[in-house]
Amino acid sequence: MQELLLYCLLPVAAASGWLGARKHYIAKATSGEMDSLRRACRGGMDILLRDSPDKAVELISGALSSSADSFSAHMALAALARKEGLVEKAIALHQNLLAKNGLAEVERGQIRFELGMDFLRAGLFDRAEDIFTSLLALPAQREIALAQLLDIYQQEKDWPKAMECLRGMGGCGRRGESLAQFYCEVALAAWTTTGNAMEAQAHVAAALEQAADCVRASLIATELALASADYALAYRCLKRVAEQNPVYISEIFPYFLAHGERLSERRELLDYLDWIGAKYNSAEAAMTLAALISRSEGLDKAVDYLSATVAARPTLRGLHALLGLLCEMPVPFPHLFVVRQSLQRFMLSSPSYHCRQCGFSAEILYWRCPACRYWETMRLRHDAPCVFE
Ligand SMILES: [Zn+2]
Repeated sequence: MQELLLYCLLPVAAASGWLGARKHYIAKATSGEMDSLRRACRGGMDILLRDSPDKAVELISGALSSSADSFSAHMALAALARKEGLVEKAIALHQNLLAKNGLAEVERGQIRFELGMDFLRAGLFDRAEDIFTSLLALPAQREIALAQLLDIYQQEKDWPKAMECLRGMGGCGRRGESLAQFYCEVALAAWTTTGNAMEAQAHVAAALEQAADCVRASLIATELALASADYALAYRCLKRVAEQNPVYISEIFPYFLAHGERLSERRELLDYLDWIGAKYNSAEAAMTLAALISRSEGLDKAVDYLSATVAARPTLRGLHALLGLLCEMPVPFPHLFVVRQSLQRFMLSSPSYHCRQCGFSAEILYWRCPACRYWETMRLRHDAPCVFE
């Protein structure tokens, strides 16, 4: 309600300033009009206090219509209307304002931009897109229009147009948008909708050309290589992730677990997992290695390895995985199940990934946060549950 009142005060302030300036010149001629406006705004605030913003907007706009110098007040009122969900009213206010004569080109640009925002709020993306596209020719509106178009094209998953916008913005969006991520989206679309692996590979290459540290491109390249049974290439793509951005190394271990020795010669593979686990203190690397050892050398060897690793680099996830292995022993200590279940309940109390920007949580990694729409802000929680159940 305080914000509402603040918005309502804008036309009052505008009217008061206008009134103060004019008072010295033509006080008598306009006093009736300003009194009317003042009364209307006061009445609007009273209604706002009773939680009826629609009536307030109606009342104040009626008063403003008689004022010739009311551009700022109209704009503030329309913004209030849109903020309160009165989108049709906001559209009408902006369209009425546009129909007036004598507006400067800059003012007309501002009104058209706000009208585009109204259409956006109303879900009329096509109309919003038309307005923002027409504003690209105006230097004063070009940047903000590009930003809105970028949002629209992302929502519509029109990645080629989104790329065009982003290039117009210098290749960097306000929410971490990047050409590399857009190329990844195009690659996935090519692969999943038409099954065109070659086209997907070309887009992945373009993503890596844009950003050599694009982890997502390496993961898509891994999937493409696995689909064509090129395990050596898949292994190289997976190893590249740690060099690109070790924040995301947890994403590569499910591939090692699923494909194991097909990716590389066994000793090389185990040495790599051991090395990367030690370098980045990665419980997932240790768990993956233990699982591979368990498959080929037996459970005892796996327990030996993981218990030594947990002793050297203790983590909740490592401990959870070790308890899992101990529970699989032929004659496990009965209370181990209770301990493991208790630990698991604690670890499962929160989703695995969270957004550093807005705090959104999820069980899977989103490259674009669904809540705040920032790119590459999701991170694996350190207390996330073991993923190798
Ligand atoms: Zn977020």
